[in-house]
Amino acid sequence: MPAMAVEMDEIVRLCKQRGFVFPSAEIYGGFRSTYDYGPLGVLMLRNVKNAWWRSMVQLRHDVVGLDAAILSSPKVWEASGHLANFTDPLVDCRSCKERWRADHLEVDPADGKVRCPKCGSSDLTEARAFNLMFKTHAGPVEDEGSVAYLRPETAQGHFVNFLNVLQTSRKRPPFGIAQIGKSFRNEITPGNFVFRTREFEQMELEFFVPPEEGPKWFEHWCAERLAWYVDLGIPADMLRLRAHEPEELSHYSAGTSDVEFAFPWGWGELEGIANRTDFDLKAHTAASGVKLEYFDQATNTRYVPHVIEPAAGATRTMMAFLLAAYDKDEVGGEERTVLRLHPRISPYQVAVLPLSKKETLSAVATEVLDVLSPQYMCDFDETQSIGRRYRRQDEIGTPLAVTVDFDTLEDRAVTIRDRDSTEQVRVPIAGLVEEVRSRLGM
Ligand code: ATP
Repeated sequence: MPAMAVEMDEIVRLCKQRGFVFPSAEIYGGFRSTYDYGPLGVLMLRNVKNAWWRSMVQLRHDVVGLDAAILSSPKVWEASGHLANFTDPLVDCRSCKERWRADHLEVDPADGKVRCPKCGSSDLTEARAFNLMFKTHAGPVEDEGSVAYLRPETAQGHFVNFLNVLQTSRKRPPFGIAQIGKSFRNEITPGNFVFRTREFEQMELEFFVPPEEGPKWFEHWCAERLAWYVDLGIPADMLRLRAHEPEELSHYSAGTSDVEFAFPWGWGELEGIANRTDFDLKAHTAASGVKLEYFDQATNTRYVPHVIEPAAGATRTMMAFLLAAYDKDEVGGEERTVLRLHPRISPYQVAVLPLSKKETLSAVATEVLDVLSPQYMCDFDETQSIGRRYRRQDEIGTPLAVTVDFDTLEDRAVTIRDRDSTEQVRVPIAGLVEEVRSRLGM
């Protein structure tokens, strides 16, 4: 199904109206590109994270999980290079005082000057390095000794726990550590809805391999990660894998490729896959004095594993799923909006819709809901006409609607309606879970 071009404001409006994403602190006028995830957004974001965890941890036997602290010793960020290098080039417009990321500004083809995107002035300051880490103080005393940072990535938790995980999980390279959690970056120019925010969620794998196997596993993870998005319904022509140019590479990387998505404004990164070599384990070994290495009993050798890191953004990826799924078509002569989301990603898998609010239907509708709820996230809606309720479920991406009507009282059967084809079939309640399972494929 080819995805249709969708304007950002249509997605932003749908997210607000249907309860996916709200601007944070809206009653106070909002707060600097921060967002809250509403009743549907929280379900969908959780599904994105669960789908990642399922493919990275549950379905593999060479990856274990971790949930490290957001606040940690500043020594971690000193050793990792973040204190010195985790910066973006910041320029000020002397005319309107707006601040910009120098590498996001474009040269005006007319006169070759770089101009302020807000006021058009070319009177900009020289770029200076701006550290993106959020600084805070741990404890009641606000002095240099109590400075702490909110993590700007979940990685590093993986590296500083390398030995703990190695010793307790009985894994040996090649093996990985997966982590999902919040990260914080004091972005100079957040924007494009949840694409770039100062608080966001990441899904990161650090995969430790014998050094000579680095290039092989880098290729493996590039292919695996691209396939993940396609398997979950993003059309392949909206995705691409882009290898970084040598001058683009981070200081630690022996190779990086980004999974990019065709956002309404152009290609944008969903995930970076990097061959980080032994940079991190060696840096933490040097700074902590604790040897982060692997002793291979079979060959009686010690080595520092190389690391392949697929690092994805959960919140940014959720937005890509919404954009790719957004569609409009005509049903019964009327235009409808439909989110063609994969059942693993849609907020609800099933909507249970009694034809009327009459009490005679309530009991059996509740029975149907009770049968499905332990297996699937279900919505229950008995307001408005059935047609409007179908439209609402289409618009929030629910793949299946189960309608309970007056015949159900006689024949103990219900109607299943398919979101994409709008086709309806009659199914006995006794076989409902099996039928839903085979239609959803989950
Ligand atoms: P960018 O170049 O867009 O700033 P990055 O290359 O610094 O991103 P990484 O450090 O590789 O990003 O982070 C891995 C992933 O985390 C990104 O691909 C993205 O999905 C997500 N991510 C990073 N920064 C943000 C942010 N400010 N808001 C939302 N998601 C983010």
